Parts: sequence; structure tokens; C-alpha cells
Amino acid sequence: MSGKILIVDDLATNRIILKVKLNAAFHETLQAATGRDALDIARRERPKLILLDMMLPDISGIEVCRRLRTMPETQHIPVVIITASGDRQNRLKALEAGADEFLTKPLNEVILLARIRSLLRARETEAELRLRSEGWGDLALAEDETIFSMPGRVGLVAAEPAIAIAWRTALAPHLKERLSVLTPAAALSDAAPGAVPDVYMVAGDLGAPGSGLRLVADLRSREQSRHAAIALALHDANPDTAAIALDVGASDLLPLPLDAQETALRLHLHVQRKRRADALRRAVSNGLRLAVTDPLTGLYNRRYALAHLDRIAARARETGRRFAVMVLDLDRFKTVNDTFGHGAGDAVLETVAARLRDNLRPSDLVARIGGEEFLIALPDATLGTARIAAERLCRVIGDEPVPLPDGRGTVQVTISVGLALGPDLGPDEADQTARNTLARADAALFAAKTEGRNQVTISSAA
Ligand code: GH3
Ligand code: MG
Ligand code: MG
Repeated sequence: MSGKILIVDDLATNRIILKVKLNAAFHETLQAATGRDALDIARRERPKLILLDMMLPDISGIEVCRRLRTMPETQHIPVVIITASGDRQNRLKALEAGADEFLTKPLNEVILLARIRSLLRARETEAELRLRSEGWGDLALAEDETIFSMPGRVGLVAAEPAIAIAWRTALAPHLKERLSVLTPAAALSDAAPGAVPDVYMVAGDLGAPGSGLRLVADLRSREQSRHAAIALALHDANPDTAAIALDVGASDLLPLPLDAQETALRLHLHVQRKRRADALRRAVSNGLRLAVTDPLTGLYNRRYALAHLDRIAARARETGRRFAVMVLDLDRFKTVNDTFGHGAGDAVLETVAARLRDNLRPSDLVARIGGEEFLIALPDATLGTARIAAERLCRVIGDEPVPLPDGRGTVQVTISVGLALGPDLGPDEADQTARNTLARADAALFAAKTEGRNQVTISSAA
């Protein structure tokens, strides 16, 4: 994606005026004089934003916008449609075609630049999420189809409830979203998780000068409303106030008196955008979870376990307490596979993992670090408590045979455990301490195997 802004206008003078303004604000630009050129350049150069004149000689700006939204390479690029007339029907059509904003000539430079900043910020966030979700994002968006069709929540915030109630009455016929009337204080107080608005519509005047702006900034900074869309409703806003509103985090500006149909359309688009970003955020955190989990057993994987072990060791160093590391390995597991098949072997691994987890504290680390090998770390342990825990684990695995799938009876399995206590190095070698303790636990496991299996062996240095 290029860092440039594409200016689309059939008149060269218009393009040059915009280019000068944008260059002065340190944006690089590209230019197109027709709709077809605009589509070609957008696809080839992937500009970061497109300023699109409504009236073009070949295809209308609205049609260009619609086509941009259908192509994967261009569908996420923010589009601002620019027109000579503030015609209402065109504004609605532009928003329906997927335009992010609609500005009327002559362009106010302060507002134009603030809009561009705000759209680029939103695009950055979404692009970042898309990148971090590494393709899971698209999956999440496809799976979340049903969520997208459910009504969203819009909070209407004004100085007087009567004003917000009047908004609700005007908007309700045009909007399937749930509309709730909020006082400024209620908008900032904790709501039940399902009741937090996706979009806030905030009156610019909440009774004191600058109060609407302040509420926008407050909502942006609160955990609960940080990711919501916030639209500030203003009576013929002066350009400076409008620009400040966008810069403190307003997602949109709504002109008052309210045009119910246009406002409803804008609020709906914000709900959709917010949901898309939510789905991406969920995909990122699911992806992170998957990246640290073993798919068969649901335990942490080796990568996570080693990193977490380092953290446990670092904490032990700070608190001066000791921690225990156990390496567990199923005894003669190959015979289970050879006798009952790999599927049965997998089922045994799942059962063993569940028994280990059920018999440890939530603060203990349980991970599958190899085929039939597990790692357990107990923070704040003594040799006595760790040995008791290890022996208990041997019993909960060995005492009760494991059921095989498809009712094929049960199989008796046992584990061997190597146990070591850390830290065993001075603070100077602190970085090595976790790995060193693990190596000693491994050696102890080897001893447990050679001494006959189904037992706990403690590293002598512990
Ligand atoms: P020992 O008591 O010495 O540990 O004997 P063992 O048979 O358990 O050890 P060995 O390392 O020879 O074999 C481990 C076996 O574990 C080999 C493989 O068939 C099995 N195994 C490893 N990962 C998996 C898995 O994900 N699923 C299944 N079903 N079996 C696995
Ligand atoms: Mg084994
Ligand atoms: Mg093994």
C-alpha cells in the first residue's frame, strides 16, 4: 500500500489546488482525471485515501466508489466524495455506496485535513488488526455474519433527556439499531457488558462551553467505550471546533438540526464498521490463544511453556521463593499405539492431560512439550509440597485405567516424573536459571525411567 492520497477530479486546476494543500500537510499525492483512471490507479498503487469528485466525465464518483468497495485490493481504502452541491440525495447515495465522508466545495482546508487525519487513524487501526489477525480475520468476519445482521446499540447523549428523546423519536423509523437515551454521566459510568453502545451520538453542547468535546475525549479514553464510534452533533459548527472534535477522537460530525434519514444511515454505517473491527480484535486474541495452545489436549504448548517458565524463574528471583519444575513422560506409550491404534493413543493423551490439569492449582503451569511428554511448573514451591504433588499425579494417572474410545474397554497407563527445584544459580546467571532447572528435571526423568518407571525421581541438586 502506498502512502499517497489519490486526487480524482476532471479539472486540472481543482487537482492542483488540492495537491498544494495536501503537500503543505506533508501528504504525497497521485492524480486521476477520469473514473476509469481512478480505478486503475487505485488498484495498482493502493493509495492510503481517495478524494473523489462526484462529477466525472466517464463514470460517476458514486459508481467509482461502489466499484472500489467490491475489489479486494481497494475495498478498505477510505474514500471522501467531494461535490459542488450539497444535494441531499447525492449525499445519501454516496454514503450508501460506501463513501466514508462527503464534503462540499468550496472545501474548508482545516476540516478537510482533520477529516483526513481521522480517517487515516481509523484505517491504521484496522490495517494493524488485519495484519495481526494474519488471515484469521477474514474467517472471523465470515463466521460473524449473523452478528452483523443483529441490531447494534446506539447511545444518544444530550444535556436534557428531552433532546435525546426527540432524536430517538426521529431516528427510530429509519434505524433497526437499539436506541438508548443517556445522560452525560450515564455515558461515562460502567454499563453491563451487553449494554455498552457500539456508537455514541453526543450533543456538542452539553450545557457548558466545550462540554461535548470533553465527553468525546472522555469516552475515547475509557476502557469500556474506547473502541466505540463517537459522532458529535453540532449546530453550524465552526471549522476549528469541528477539526478539534475529529482530533480528540470523534469518528464523525453530524449537522444539526438533525436530518433523520442521513443521520440514521451514518449511525448504521458506524455500527457496521465497529463490528468489523470488533470481529478483527476477537480474531487477533483467538489467534494469540491458538498460537500458545496444543490443539489435541488444549494445554499450553512448548513455546508458551518455556516463555512462562522464564517468567516464573524471574519472579522467584524477586521474591526469593523457590519454584518446582516437573517433566512427565508416559511409560511405554508406544505399546498403547501399537496395540490399540494411534486414535486410542490420542484419546489417552487427552485423558492424561485432563487429569493433570484437574489435580493442580490454576496458578500452576501445565503444558504438553512433546509427543507424550508434559511440563509442569509450580511457583512458590518447597521440595516437600512439590514431591507430594508429583506423587499425587503419578497416582491419579496410574490408579485408574483410561477408557478407550468406542467402548473398547480400558488401558492401564503410568507416568514417570523428573522433579527439580529452582532457582539453582546465583543472580548473575539468572537468565539461565529456568532452562537449567528444566535440564535437571529432564535428567531426573531419565533416572526415573532407568530405575523402573511409574515413579518420581528428584534431581539430586534440589
Ligand atoms: P518410555 O517408557 O521409555 O517413555 O517408552 P515410550 O514408548 O513411551 O517412549 P518412546 O519415546 O519410544 O515412544 C513414544 C511414543 O509416543 C512414540 C509415538 O508413537 C507416541 N506418540 C508421540 N506423540 C503422539 C501423539 O500425538 N499421539 C499418539 N497417539 N502417540 C504419540
Ligand atoms: Mg514415553
Ligand atoms: Mg517420550
